[in-house]
Amino acid sequence: MRILVTGGAGYIGSHTVLALLNSGYEVVVLDNFSNGSWEALLRVEGLTGKRITLVEGDIGDRGCLDHLFAENAIDSVLHFAGLKAVGDSMADPLTYYVNNLAGTLTLCQAMSCADVHELVFSSSATIYGDGHPMPLHEGLPSGRPASPYGRSKLMVEEVLRDLAGSDNRWRIALLRYFNPVGAHPSGEIGEDPQGAPNNLVPFIAQVAVGRRDELVVYGNDYSTPDGTGVRDYIHVMDLAEGHLRAMVALSERPGVSVWNLGTGRGHSVLEVIAAFERAAKRRIPYRIEARRPGDIAAYWADSAKAQAELGWWARRSLDEMMADTWHWQQGNPCGYQRKLGIATG
Ligand code: NAD
Ligand code: UDP
Repeated sequence: MRILVTGGAGYIGSHTVLALLNSGYEVVVLDNFSNGSWEALLRVEGLTGKRITLVEGDIGDRGCLDHLFAENAIDSVLHFAGLKAVGDSMADPLTYYVNNLAGTLTLCQAMSCADVHELVFSSSATIYGDGHPMPLHEGLPSGRPASPYGRSKLMVEEVLRDLAGSDNRWRIALLRYFNPVGAHPSGEIGEDPQGAPNNLVPFIAQVAVGRRDELVVYGNDYSTPDGTGVRDYIHVMDLAEGHLRAMVALSERPGVSVWNLGTGRGHSVLEVIAAFERAAKRRIPYRIEARRPGDIAAYWADSAKAQAELGWWARRSLDEMMADTWHWQQGNPCGYQRKLGIATG
């Protein structure tokens, strides 16, 4: 089977490409390299001993897509391509809607013309919005996500439901990720944020490796056990394996299927720091500041549906997530630019 992976040069995409190649699939990656890395794909080829067909292009470029589908007999599409910085989406919503929403519409049109109707979409737990009892299960109504980024995910979910409702050839998975962290255990590929990381774990990793002086913990006055925010952190390799399970399940599931990809367990910011300190065997300096605007106190997944329907559950612990993050960061203090000797900001 030949799989198109949009955004395959990015963080989650590259780990999923590795899992696909190791499971015997052929992979075509489409990426515009706005936030991806050639080096990541080279390393995936090195780790797997398999070749990737790479198309440099944009999901919003219909000509590029038509050419890609004409040249490659694609069976299924894993659609990771998108912009993901919440703050940037508030400053520049149009760019987010054009890229994440309009880009997905163009991709679906091209798929339809090429008679490819199987799609796995990278959605997010952010679509649940605020105010639900925990844990979050797939049957809950979606809320109002706090940012244009989150709303672009919700809009794409709605479009894909309409599409599947209009034509029963479509088989679509909406995978709602919780908080992906970690790296491949080889330490060869991992998360490589551009500029200062917005997310907790990459920030901690950069403090540990000496690129940043200290972590700021956003608030210790939440109604959580230790007052800091609680999230469901999931190892990126568990997430990658969840995509393979979802894709296999889709072959017998017309319409739209929704699955949370989370561990079902929440961890606080202070628990994450402690786990990282155990993994790296060093202190992470931090100070407490005010809550970050828009943050929710706590959320985690109900992961029972994916377990029952896909036979998938997250196997890797928080300690493994932190150990693999540290392995990657220690070996690649400046991410993929290490080999070029370029220091990043
Ligand atoms: P990433 O930025 O590392 O990867 C996205 C990839 O898509 C990059 O390689 C980028 O160059 C590419 N891309 C972006 N726009 C494109 C376009 N128009 N055409 C072609 N390629 C394009 O992000 P990630 O963390 O790997 O996330 C993958 C997907 O999962 C995204 O859709 C993201 O919104 C979603 N998601 C991520 C998280 C998270 O915390 N990382 C959580 C929930 C959902
Ligand atoms: N967080 C923090 N310091 C940081 C980044 C994040 O204290 O530098 C906290 C944040 O308030 C939240 C948790 O860590 O409680 C996870 O944040 P992240 O941005 O990684 O994920 P998201 O908020 O998108 O779930």
